[in-house]
Amino acid sequence: MQRADVGIVGAGIVGLAHAFVAARAGRSVVVFERNSRALGASVRNFGAFWPIGQTPGVLFDRAMRSRGAWLELAEKAGLWTQPTGSVFLAYAPDEMAVVEECAARAPGWGYQVEALGKGATLRRVPHANPDGLLGCLSSATEIRIESRRAIPRITAYLARELGVRFCFGSTVTRVEMARIGTAAGESWEVGHAIVASGDDFRTLYPEVYASTPGLTRCKLQMMRTVPQREGFALGPHIAGGLSLRFYGAFEGLESVGALRARVARERPELDRWGLNVMASQTEGGELILGDSHEYGPDFDCEYRQEVEDLILDHTRRMLSGLDLRIADRWLGTYAKLTDPSAPFVRHPAEGVAVITGVGGAGMTLSFGLAEEVCFELGITEHAPVPPVGAG
Ligand SMILES: Cc1cc2nc3c(=O)[nH]c(=O)nc-3n(C[C@H](O)[C@H](O)[C@H](O)COP(=O)(O)OP(=O)(O)OC[C@H]3O[C@@H](n4cnc5c(N)ncnc54)[C@H](O)[C@@H]3O)c2cc1C
Repeated sequence: MQRADVGIVGAGIVGLAHAFVAARAGRSVVVFERNSRALGASVRNFGAFWPIGQTPGVLFDRAMRSRGAWLELAEKAGLWTQPTGSVFLAYAPDEMAVVEECAARAPGWGYQVEALGKGATLRRVPHANPDGLLGCLSSATEIRIESRRAIPRITAYLARELGVRFCFGSTVTRVEMARIGTAAGESWEVGHAIVASGDDFRTLYPEVYASTPGLTRCKLQMMRTVPQREGFALGPHIAGGLSLRFYGAFEGLESVGALRARVARERPELDRWGLNVMASQTEGGELILGDSHEYGPDFDCEYRQEVEDLILDHTRRMLSGLDLRIADRWLGTYAKLTDPSAPFVRHPAEGVAVITGVGGAGMTLSFGLAEEVCFELGITEHAPVPPVGAG
C-alpha cells in the first residue's frame, strides 16, 4: 500500500490546479491519469484565460484569483503566456450598443473594460477589418496561453519542483475512503480524494452525476491555421459581436436581448451550432480559430464542414491579412452545468470532492476553485484572499 496526503483523479487543468495548490501547501500528492498524458479538454481548448466571460461576483472573482497562479506558473514552469487582454469587435449597431452598455456598467462590477471607437480599435488590432467596423469592447485582464504546450509543462514542473507523483496509464476504478484503487490493482491510501475526471460521468460516482441537475456535455469544433508570416502579431485575443451574446458577463445587460433576437431571426444557423467566433495566436505563430457548441449526453463523431465554413466566413469579416489555410482540425468535449449559479463541487463522502461542470471556463477558473476546495477540505490552512479590485 502506497500513501499520499491527497489523491487526484485526472491530469487535466482541474486536477493539476488542485495538485499545485495542495503540493505548494506542503502536502504529498499523487495524480492518476488513465491516458499516457492529458488528452482531454485541457489540451483541446482555445487557451484563453478569460475573466471577461465570467458572470459578475463569485465566478469573476474566482477567475481573477486564478490569474495570479497563471502568471506565477508562467515564470516558474516556463509557460508561454501573453497578457494581451481581449477585444470584442463590433460590426452592427446592436453589437456596439452592448459594447457601450458594458463599458458603462461593468467597471462597477470589477471588470477592466472600455469601449473604443473605430480609430482606436484599429490601433489596438491592426488586423481588424475596417469595412463596417464600429468599434470594440477592450478588456485588459485576459491572457493567451497555448494549452497543448502549457499542460505538459505544468505537469513537468509539479513533478520536478513540488514532488507531485504522476501515475499515467492508470485508470481509477474505485474511491473508498481512505483508498483509491486502479484498474491495474494498485491501491493507495490517501487523506483526501479529488475527482477531476472531466466529462467522464460513468467510471466514478455515476450516481453523483445522475443527481446533479442541469449537468450536460458540450461538443466543440476547432481549427488551427498554418503559421502566419514572420513578424505577424494578432495582438489581443479576438472575439466578435457573436460572443457578446454568449457570456455570463453580458447576461445582465439590457442591450443583449436585441442582439440575440437579431441573430436568431437573421442567422438561425449561428444559433443552431452555438457559434462563438474567436481567434488567438499561438506560441508557434499559428492562429487558433473556433468554436461551435452542441449540447447533450453524447454526440456523433462528425466534424462539420458547414461549421468550419461559418467560422471562416465570420473570421474574414472581422480580420484581414491572415493566412487562413487550415493545418489542423479537432473536436473537444467538456462537462457543463446549465445553471450558472450551481456549485462545481460535490462531496459524496467525507474527504472526497468531485468537481464537475466547469464548462468552457476550466482554464480560467481552476486555480481559484482549487484554492477554495483545498481550504474546505482542510488541505490548506488559509482561506483564499479576495482578488485585488474585485467588484
Ligand atoms: C474546444 C474547447 C475550447 C475551450 N476553450 C477554453 C478557453 O478558451 N478558456 C477556458 O477557460 N476554458 C476553455 N475550455 C474549457 C476547458 O478546456 C475545460 O473546462 C477544462 O479543460 C476541463 O478540465 P478538466 O481537468 O475537468 O477535464 P479534462 O481536461 O478533460 O481532464 C480530465 C482528465 O481525467 C482523466 N480521467 C477521467 N476519468 C479517469 C479515471 N477514472 N481514472 C484516471 N483518469 C481519469 C481523463 O483522461 C482526462 O485526462 C475549452 C474546452 C474545449 C473543449
